[in-house]
Amino acid sequence: MSPTALVLADPRSPLGIRATLEALGAAEALLAHHGGGKLVLGLLGHSLGALRETAAGWGADEVLLLDDARLAVFQAETYAWAAETIVKRLSSPTVVLLPGSTLGRELVGRLSARLRGGGTSEALELDLEDTGGIRVRRPLFGGKASETVSLPAPAVVSLRANAFAPPEHPRPSRVVPVLLPDPGAGSGGARLLERLPVPVSDTPPLTQAPVVVSGGRGLHGPENWPLLEDLARALGAGLGASRAVVDAGWRPASEQVGQTGSSVSPQLYVAVGISGAIQHLVGMSSSRCIVAINTDPSAPIFKVADYGIVGDALVLLPALTEAVRRVRAGVVP
Ligand SMILES: Cc1cc2nc3c(=O)[nH]c(=O)nc-3n(C[C@H](O)[C@H](O)[C@H](O)COP(=O)(O)OP(=O)(O)OC[C@H]3O[C@@H](n4cnc5c(N)ncnc54)[C@H](O)[C@@H]3O)c2cc1C
Repeated sequence: MSPTALVLADPRSPLGIRATLEALGAAEALLAHHGGGKLVLGLLGHSLGALRETAAGWGADEVLLLDDARLAVFQAETYAWAAETIVKRLSSPTVVLLPGSTLGRELVGRLSARLRGGGTSEALELDLEDTGGIRVRRPLFGGKASETVSLPAPAVVSLRANAFAPPEHPRPSRVVPVLLPDPGAGSGGARLLERLPVPVSDTPPLTQAPVVVSGGRGLHGPENWPLLEDLARALGAGLGASRAVVDAGWRPASEQVGQTGSSVSPQLYVAVGISGAIQHLVGMSSSRCIVAINTDPSAPIFKVADYGIVGDALVLLPALTEAVRRVRAGVVP
C-alpha cells in the first residue's frame, strides 16, 4: 500500500504558514523518495475563507478543511481533538507531520497520546521504513548531538523550523470539508480564563532574525536596555537575553537564548555583558559570526567570539550604535 502523509497546518501567523509550507515540502520529498503516495493537508481553525483558497494551491493532493467556531481561539486540548478528528478521516496515515511552530510543539504530545501511537519533535531528517513506520533524526543536548528514532505508523512528528524547504511543485488540490463532532465528545474539560497579549516589539522575531543583539547581567539593570534596543534597531536585529536577566524580571522569557530558551543561529550574534555560561552557549554558538562585549577579558564568551571588545558596555553601546548608523548612512567613520 502506498504511504499517506498528513500535514496539519498552522494558519495563525505568517511564521506558522511558513512552517506549514516547510512541513508540506518535507512530506512531498519523503513521499517522492519512496515512489509517491498521498499528501493530505489538514486545515483547522475558524473563518478560514481566504486561507482556504490559498492553501488549496500549496501542493497537497487533498485539503481536509475543519472550519468551526470552537476553533476560533487556540486551545491545545480542543485543537488536539480537532486534529484527531482529521486523522481519523484517513484510513491509515503513515505519518502526521506538524509544523515547527508553537502549534506543532503544543500538539505533538497530545495528538500522539490520543492516537495511542509514537510521537517525537524537532525532526531534522525523515525516512520511511520498509515495515511501514518512520525513522526520524532529531537534535539532542542543544544541537551538540543527534539521535535517530524509529516510530510505528501512525507516527506524529513535529519538525525543526527552517530544516526543510517548501514544496518544489505547488499544485491545486481539492478541498473536502470535515465536521467536528458534537460538544463533549472528546474536547476535554479546559476552559479559557484569561488571554494575555504578547507585547508588541518593533524588532524582528528572535528565532528568525539574521542579526541578534543579546544582553546579560553586565547591563546592570532594565533601565539600560534602551541602549541595547538602539543598537538592535540600527542593525535591524532581534533582541535576546541571558537567563539571568529573564529570571531577574528585566526581560520577558520569550527573549531568553540558551538551553532553556530559544536556540538561534543568525549571521551575526552580539553578546553584551553576557559571561558565556555553557547553558547560554548551546543556544547561540552556531551563529555565523559572534561579537562579545565584556569588561572581563577572561569571560568564557570570548572563547567562542570571532570579535571581542573588552570594555564597559554602557560606554561602548552608544558609540557602537552611532558607528553602525553612520556606516548604514554611507558615512564611513
Ligand atoms: C539548568 C540550567 C539551565 C539554564 N539555561 C540557561 C539558558 O537557557 N540561557 C542562559 O543564558 N542561561 C541559562 N542558565 C544560566 C547560566 O548558567 C548563567 O547563570 C547565565 O547565562 C548567566 O547570565 P549572564 O551572563 O547575563 O550573567 P553573569 O554570569 O552574571 O555575567 C555577566 C557578565 O557581564 C560582564 N559585565 C559586568 N559589567 C559589565 C559592563 N559594564 N559591561 C560589559 N560587561 C559587563 C561580567 O564580566 C560578566 O561576564 C541555565 C542554568 C541552569 C542551571
